[in-house]
Amino acid sequence: MKLLIAFCCMVFLLWPMSSIAGQSKLQSRAERTRYAETSLYADVIDFIAELQRASANVKVETFTVTNEGRALPLVILSKPAISSPAEAAASGKPVVFIMANIHAGEVEGKEATQHIMRDVVTGSLGHLLDKIVLLVAPIYNADGNEKIDIMNRSAQNGPSGGVGVRENGQRLDLNRDFMKLESPEARGLIGGVFNRWDPHVIIDLHTTNGSYHGYALTYSPCLNPNSDRKLTSFAREKLLPDVTRTLKSKHKYNIYFYGNFADPTQPARELRPNESGDPKVWATFDHRPRFGNNYEGLRNRIAILSEAYSYLSFRARVDVTDKFVRAILEYVAGHAKEVVDLVREADRYSVATGTTSGNEEGFGVSFELKASPRPVEILVGSVNRIVDPRTNRPRLEATDEARPVKMTEYGEFQATRRIRPPAAYVLKPDQRKIIDVLLAHGVAVETLTKEETFTVERYTVNEISRAQRAFQGHKEARLKVTASETREKFPAGSFLVSMNQPKAALIFYLLEPESDDGLANWNFFDEELDNGAKEGGPAHYPVFRLKTEIRTPRQLLKR
Ligand SMILES: [Zn+2]
Repeated sequence: MKLLIAFCCMVFLLWPMSSIAGQSKLQSRAERTRYAETSLYADVIDFIAELQRASANVKVETFTVTNEGRALPLVILSKPAISSPAEAAASGKPVVFIMANIHAGEVEGKEATQHIMRDVVTGSLGHLLDKIVLLVAPIYNADGNEKIDIMNRSAQNGPSGGVGVRENGQRLDLNRDFMKLESPEARGLIGGVFNRWDPHVIIDLHTTNGSYHGYALTYSPCLNPNSDRKLTSFAREKLLPDVTRTLKSKHKYNIYFYGNFADPTQPARELRPNESGDPKVWATFDHRPRFGNNYEGLRNRIAILSEAYSYLSFRARVDVTDKFVRAILEYVAGHAKEVVDLVREADRYSVATGTTSGNEEGFGVSFELKASPRPVEILVGSVNRIVDPRTNRPRLEATDEARPVKMTEYGEFQATRRIRPPAAYVLKPDQRKIIDVLLAHGVAVETLTKEETFTVERYTVNEISRAQRAFQGHKEARLKVTASETREKFPAGSFLVSMNQPKAALIFYLLEPESDDGLANWNFFDEELDNGAKEGGPAHYPVFRLKTEIRTPRQLLKR
């Protein structure tokens, strides 16, 4: 396990200017090639340089350098121009962050964000900067992007010039790395964008494949029930329905909450003889915060996942992604104060209570999908299958079919077991590697300035089971524990992690031993727990729980 290192200091830089001939200035590679090709890293960098030439309202930072040495740009669009998070906060405007290309085979967001930045700087979207600060990371998985090949995602309907690969340069899926932070991209994103700029709204752009549905794009808010209910409701019940209506009325696009059918290729089929269960189901994906949208929710921020439909043409996918993002930006600009107030209130609530709105009875540690109370009309689609002569593989093209079929929707999760959070977690000085992960997530940690003995809850580990197959280089661990009260001595330098801070929900998820996406799950405690078991006695989980805050000399730990 690599130790996490502190996020390096930020470097401002002006991207090297390069000349692009005539008309191609401020056109994406997709536009220049009539949607035959997607942008390379150099195209995106050149485009950003042109944006900077066109307007003083464009600033650029590097938020990380990838495994293969590519500096990842964060474009800051604001009016008047700002260069620091303090200036963004002082503006009182919501900060909206758009990230694209986390999966580098899913390329339309990378093109759409270039078009949107252009229109913010030079055209029809300029008014947005009166109300919001816009941050854009158009090419998050740059290393994956550069491995363009026509055989990647060959069933996807273009671009014909091929796309990049899903994984980063160390073969990690960056949309499974939000908790363990093993990639320079994730560490840079969390340190250099989320902790540094603290965006109120985060939009993450993807392409979906699988179920043959009738939507041009599907979307999801945070799905983890431990998130602040008021924030998630704002996205689920207000922002997204409004944006959905806009896309239908202004652009004739059908969009809806993300889902998959029970039978992805025969969505509306009837139950077969000798078959049980419901064949007509529309179910969302996952509640775990290894996924960006769920992680961002646990940080008390508004998250929106966007999934353009893989079997639409590349041009149509760029277009619907573009229209979706524009509609979100307009909505946030029109509700700027509400967004800022909601986020501030969610943070204030966590600081005051150590929990989030809707989780006063304890945070969930296990979850299940919740069925809609009544059937919902879901648009069923279909595809034409052709063999692409360039790859000799099947390629799927969406037909115009969008037939409403009533089915049960499983669009939300609910907790099936809850645990009351402690007032604070306490860790001994030998747990520094765990503390480093917490610090990387922006969690506030204090250290005891003298030895103390506390009454704490201690977990005894009764069972550790590990997955048979490795996933992302890990055999994920599940622990079964029992808690008991004990007096425990903590030397000076022990770590105190109070839950009375904005990231209470995230801290709980990272540190609880039975969490399904915490540091125990990702093997951070394996060596210690296995050694404990070898010594004969029961293994104790090295994170202790203080039931009530204790007044004791302490100091804030600086990274
Ligand atoms: Zn994706």
